[in-house]
Amino acid sequence: MNKTLLMGLLLTVFLTIDIQAVEAKSLNNEPSTNGIASLNQKQWIHGSQDCKANKDPAIEVFQYDESSYILRQNKCLSYEAPFIYVFIGDEKTLVVDTGATASSKSFPLYETIQSLTKKHLVDGEVDKRQILVVHSHSHSDHYGADSQFIGQANVTVVAPNSDGINEYFAFENWPEQQTKLDLGGRSITIIPTPGHQEEAISIYDSQTQWLLTGDTFYPGYVYVKNWNDYKNSIARLLSFTKNHDVSAILGAHIEMKSKAGEYYEIGTIYQPDESPLPLMPIDLATLNTKLQQATKPAKISLNRLIVEPLGALPKLISSIVSWFM
Ligand SMILES: [Zn+2]
Ligand SMILES: [Zn+2]
Repeated sequence: MNKTLLMGLLLTVFLTIDIQAVEAKSLNNEPSTNGIASLNQKQWIHGSQDCKANKDPAIEVFQYDESSYILRQNKCLSYEAPFIYVFIGDEKTLVVDTGATASSKSFPLYETIQSLTKKHLVDGEVDKRQILVVHSHSHSDHYGADSQFIGQANVTVVAPNSDGINEYFAFENWPEQQTKLDLGGRSITIIPTPGHQEEAISIYDSQTQWLLTGDTFYPGYVYVKNWNDYKNSIARLLSFTKNHDVSAILGAHIEMKSKAGEYYEIGTIYQPDESPLPLMPIDLATLNTKLQQATKPAKISLNRLIVEPLGALPKLISSIVSWFM
C-alpha cells in the first residue's frame, strides 16, 4: 500500500470494481517444471489500460507442483489483484484467502477450487477431502469470496477475525505460539504475525517450503498499524527462516516494479513492469536490521519493498471497520 493510505483503506473496504468484460473463467497452466526459478520468471496477468476491453480470466491459476497452486485475481476485477494459495493434502485442501470479490458469477473461486481438487481424484472416486479456508488477515481484499464457501458440504471457513482464528487454532499464547495443521501427509505451520493488522498470520508449507506472509511482507507498499508488533513479527519470521528450509517468501500482492525501489501507485489497474512475486530470507533480514535500527516508527524504503507506519486517522478507521467484523 502506498502513501495515500486513507484513500487506499477506504477503497479497499468499500470498492470492488466489477467489470463485465472480465471473463468469469479461470486459466489453468500445466505444472511448472523448474521449481522456484519458475516463480521468479513467472509473469502474471497484470491488468489492462482499458479494463472494459479486458478479456483475461477472472482468476489466473498457476500450478507449481502436483498439489500446490497460486491463483491471482484479475486486476480489472480488483486493482488489489490479491494472490490466493491452494495446498492439497490427502485429507484436506487448504485455501489461503478468497480474494476481493463476492460474486461467484464474476469471480468463480469456489468452482475453481473444486475443479482443482477433482483433478486429484482417481476414476470414480468421490472427493472426501475437506476444504479449509483460512485468511492471511482480515482486510476485505482477502475474504471477498468467503460467501461462496460458507454452507457448502465438506467446507470449513475460519472466520476472518481474532475469535475465529483463536477458536480454530486454539492459540493460548498469541503471538509467540506457533501451531500446526495436518492436511494429510502435508504439514502446515501457522505463525502469528500481527503488525500490518492485528489478526495477521503467516503460513509455512512443508511440501513447497513456501512461507506465505500475506500483507505482512510482500513486494509492495506495506503499511503498518502497530509498529512494535510488526517489528517483533518480522524478527520472529526471520528466526523461523533460520530454523526451517524456506524456498521462497510469498505475499498477497505485487506493487513493486522490476526496477529497485520503484512501485505502482495505489489503484493501478495495469502493471506491465511488475516485480517477481517471491521475496527471500535475505530480504527479511534486511528489513529486520532496519527495523531494529529505527528509533521510532518511520518509513523504510528497500529495493524489494517499502514499509510505512499507518497514520492516526487511517488507524482509527481500520479499528472502526474491525469492530464490525
Ligand atoms: Zn491486501
Ligand atoms: Zn492488508
